[in-house]
Amino acid sequence: MARVAFIGLGNMGGGMAANLVKAGHEVVAFDLSADALARAEGRGATRAATAAEAMKDAEAVVTMLPAGRHVRAVYAESVLGQAPKGAILMDCSTIDVASARAVIADAAAAGYDMVDAPVSGGIAAAEAGTLTFMAGGTDAAFARARPFLEQMGKAVIHAGEAGAGQAAKICNNMLLGATMVATCEAFAMAKRLGLDLQTFYDISSKASGQSWSMTSYCPVPGVGPETPADRDYEGGFAAALMLKDLRLAMAAAESVDAYTPMGAEAEELYTRFAEALGGGGKDFSAIIKMIDDSWVPPEGTVAPPPPLGAKV
Ligand code: NAD
Repeated sequence: MARVAFIGLGNMGGGMAANLVKAGHEVVAFDLSADALARAEGRGATRAATAAEAMKDAEAVVTMLPAGRHVRAVYAESVLGQAPKGAILMDCSTIDVASARAVIADAAAAGYDMVDAPVSGGIAAAEAGTLTFMAGGTDAAFARARPFLEQMGKAVIHAGEAGAGQAAKICNNMLLGATMVATCEAFAMAKRLGLDLQTFYDISSKASGQSWSMTSYCPVPGVGPETPADRDYEGGFAAALMLKDLRLAMAAAESVDAYTPMGAEAEELYTRFAEALGGGGKDFSAIIKMIDDSWVPPEGTVAPPPPLGAKV
């Protein structure tokens, strides 16, 4: 078993670190939030006073941070040069491909093996240890990271070279955002055409319109398996995080001159829903309420709702 430095013990990192503790590792944790750190300590981790202190004698480092700028700063200031040279470095945050590549290149120049290893699956999967990891990096780095990732997930896939994990993650989530919007508009139109929505589900889930957004994550309450729609769209994957991923996808598309009209439309619709209409805290399938015009913006939403079809 190893000594693992874990930085970023928020919604996702908290459960992931607890699973490493359960697997028998000595987890040394640091987070800027005292609450997050106290929760991690309560779940068996040892508290460090700073990120750099957590690196002492670490054999592995896991980071689970909000965005690229946090990852760049933490690695530059507290990981590279502070962790022992033999430590394997794993960044599991969802960040832009360019930052992932830059940090891994800096790590390699400083003599470390590192992978970008973003996850699919939300807070429940982080708790249950059933995340899917998609990792980028050299074969040697992946081979060293894999045993740790397997203790936090149900599937660990080598996506390619440095940054490939982030590339796979945002291509997947761009597809997810677009299929969710398409599924929502199909249900909204079916309703206006007088179809029973359960009947439409029974047909489409076995026909060519089927997708994960329909059969595993149906946005209509009471139809299909139990989903956040059945809990007033609470829990699940927040619309604000979907918007974050769509923005990363659009930035990546621009950087390689990829034509992504559906991704761009999904980004615009989630901007409208999550920001202008105050739906960012709801599950991302709640966008169906904007599409069928039943969404009531929460009190305090200042921006007037722009008409559908207008650029936001
Ligand atoms: P979170 O905001 O709950 O946790 C991030 C933690 O990082 C916070 O506790 C924060 O205090 C800490 N932090 C920020 N800067 C720091 C620093 N410099 N040093 C130490 N700690 C610092 O976010 P989350 O929901 O756990 O998500 C983490 C990452 O996982 C994000 O990149 C997100 O996009 C991705 N992700 C989230 C989900 C989800 O459902 N929440 C699913 C898949 C992927």
